[in-house]
Amino acid sequence: MSHFSYRDGVLCAESTPLNRIAEQFGSPTYVYSKAALCQNFAAYADACRGRDALVCYAVKANSNLAILNLLARQGAGFDLVSGGELQRVIAAGGDTGKCLFSGVGKTRDEMRLALEHGILCFNVESIPELHLLNEVAGDMGKIAPVSLRVNPNVDANTHPYISTGLKDNKFGVAFDDALATYRAAAALPHLAVAGIDCHIGSQLLDDAPLLEALDKVIELIDALAAEGITIHHLDIGGGIGITYDDEQPVPVGAYLARLFARIDGWRAAKHGGAPIKVLFEPGRSIVGNAGLLLTETLYLKHGESKNFAVVDAAMNDLMRPAMYEAWHRVQPVMPRRQPEKTYDVVGPICESGDWLARSRALALEPGDLLAIMSAGAYGMTMASNYNTRPRAAEVMVDGDRVHLIRQRETVADLFALETLIA
Ligand SMILES: *Cc1c(COP(=O)(O)O)cnc(C)c1O
Repeated sequence: MSHFSYRDGVLCAESTPLNRIAEQFGSPTYVYSKAALCQNFAAYADACRGRDALVCYAVKANSNLAILNLLARQGAGFDLVSGGELQRVIAAGGDTGKCLFSGVGKTRDEMRLALEHGILCFNVESIPELHLLNEVAGDMGKIAPVSLRVNPNVDANTHPYISTGLKDNKFGVAFDDALATYRAAAALPHLAVAGIDCHIGSQLLDDAPLLEALDKVIELIDALAAEGITIHHLDIGGGIGITYDDEQPVPVGAYLARLFARIDGWRAAKHGGAPIKVLFEPGRSIVGNAGLLLTETLYLKHGESKNFAVVDAAMNDLMRPAMYEAWHRVQPVMPRRQPEKTYDVVGPICESGDWLARSRALALEPGDLLAIMSAGAYGMTMASNYNTRPRAAEVMVDGDRVHLIRQRETVADLFALETLIA
């Protein structure tokens, strides 16, 4: 069920008309549905019920404190890629004991911060990182729990910029080097081998590559067990896709059922049925379809071969079209009964790459509100201040109530940290 639908000719978030939100909070504004977020998280939580499993929401998809807090209250753990994200989780009341720290470039300071807060596990991506973490943990008199991010060399069949599980990729430890790297980790005195992880890509519509990656991870766990290295948890990463246009991603429940069936079969056959803890790191599939970007049409430019709708949102607000040529549905908030024209929906930024949607049939007049759909993930978190544009406000809708969860930035905010030289 979509939480964004038309009622009496007006597009609503849950039961709140989007024009009311624009009147109250201005535009551009990110609008999230609380019910959609909770429903998306519940798809994972329900499929994990009764198992030793933890859903670690990937904070980089959308790191607003209200969203982190809402997910923390549903029992979520968190997958982090920076010390900053850890501080956000703490500020949002999340449980640091349920946090994973991923990423290829963790700094000494970030490692220290994560060790101070007793995170669940470091997802380590290289041998030099193992050595640095061992040193930092040793200095603090601590033992760092580690997992190696292995690269199963599985093709996720997704956009090259969001495919992460292939050989020629900056992420993870090559599958063929994994055993040797685990031996190195097990020999370091201030590390404790806890788990194994992988993350093969994003916006996956089919779970076959994920199950293929699982098989390779299982193979490694058994090879490690034969050497006396015990793996306590298995983390299969995130990556399930969402519908932007007419894609039909595998339902989360169906994917998890297949994954658990495979894990259970393996544990029964090789480990006397002893369970293994399973972790997930979903981002997009939790927030992507729970948010939209509300924008107002400023000008219409009718050209010889092209029409442009210039709107008040731009690539600095939603980077995905400019960066990945991503496709987002564009819906009028109050559809007009007049003939449509074909428009490119573009922002005010001085770049030809500043477009949000291309060749869309729309019936528009200046001042009309548009909703750029499925913008909850990798929207606000990738926003910038290019062209000295304050970042958008963010609101969370709960039925007919609207909560401002991030004020619109002011221009003064943007240069507050700058100083003139004498
Ligand atoms: C980005 C990322 C995720 C989340 O990916 P989604 O496609 O948004 O589910 C999970 N794990 C790691 C390591 C990531 O970098």
